[in-house]
Amino acid sequence: MAKIKHEKGVLVEDTVIDPDNNSAKKKNFIITHAHSDHAKVSKAKEKTFFMTPETKNLIKTRNTKEFNVKEIPFKKKFSLDSTEFEFFHSGHILGSTQIRVNGGEIVLTSDFKLTDSVLFDKAEILQAETLVIESTFGSPEYVFPERKKIYEKIEKWGKQELKENKLLVLGGYSIGKAQELTKLSNKFLDEIPLVHQTIFEPNKVYEKSGTKLGKFELLNHNLKEFNVLIIPPHLLNPDLITALEISSGRKVSSAVFSGWNGFRGTKSFPLSDHADFNQLLKYVKESGAKNVLTNHGFAEQFASSIRRKLGVNARPLNKSSQSNLLDF
Ligand SMILES: [Zn+2]
Ligand SMILES: [Zn+2]
Repeated sequence: MAKIKHEKGVLVEDTVIDPDNNSAKKKNFIITHAHSDHAKVSKAKEKTFFMTPETKNLIKTRNTKEFNVKEIPFKKKFSLDSTEFEFFHSGHILGSTQIRVNGGEIVLTSDFKLTDSVLFDKAEILQAETLVIESTFGSPEYVFPERKKIYEKIEKWGKQELKENKLLVLGGYSIGKAQELTKLSNKFLDEIPLVHQTIFEPNKVYEKSGTKLGKFELLNHNLKEFNVLIIPPHLLNPDLITALEISSGRKVSSAVFSGWNGFRGTKSFPLSDHADFNQLLKYVKESGAKNVLTNHGFAEQFASSIRRKLGVNARPLNKSSQSNLLDF
């Protein structure tokens, strides 16, 4: 049984998965996807970072420093210190991976979702003895509507605002959400969106990897010629909206797209790239896992839901100080 614990990231035997920072004195690191809280790479010569080619290309859009990278495609087994790893798409963003260790002794989902989107199929549920599952939305108040229904609402809202000659400003994370919004704008609103610089480069990586988004243009003093603008959500504030209204000569209608309902005062759609509470439970149940370790977000609360609702051993990963699970 491979050993697993939380130590400057998730440590499986001697390999660190998604390191918390660059301080771990190990040589092999796996990066599950390009979001910055998971992709902490360093240029230290003795460290090697294993990831999918898509993840590498996305990281390169914001990180110009060189690091030792080894590209591993999906469903190709590789071994590090006699532990076998294999990547499976997690349905979260381009290149995002779940990790199967030793054929299912351990499965780590990292960030995943179990819904199809306009860009990706949902994650495959892997059979596991021990499951390490992300628990970002591991609380029952986080149950999202069907994605198709959310798309319909976005389409209806967007078309109405456009009919009133407004400039639509859509806030979505630069990697993942913004590409889905680019596609939605093309597909449902029949509009070529302008995108912020931090979105333009990831958009190109998606396109090059064969995930078609439709057309898009870089925001560059060309606001008057377009009707949809996509920016990262943290830029969406009253000052920016005023500035956009002045430079476009139109009223702005804005919305953010996120599973979190913490964007006060702004219209929002619960379009999430994470599993909601029901999807998390479904994964645990169908994986057949005997032991579950929860990681991120509502880790404590979700572990207790798993014990109560499914009768399966579960606890937060960062509380597992012992170096193996025999005394689970
Ligand atoms: Zn993520
Ligand atoms: Zn995450």
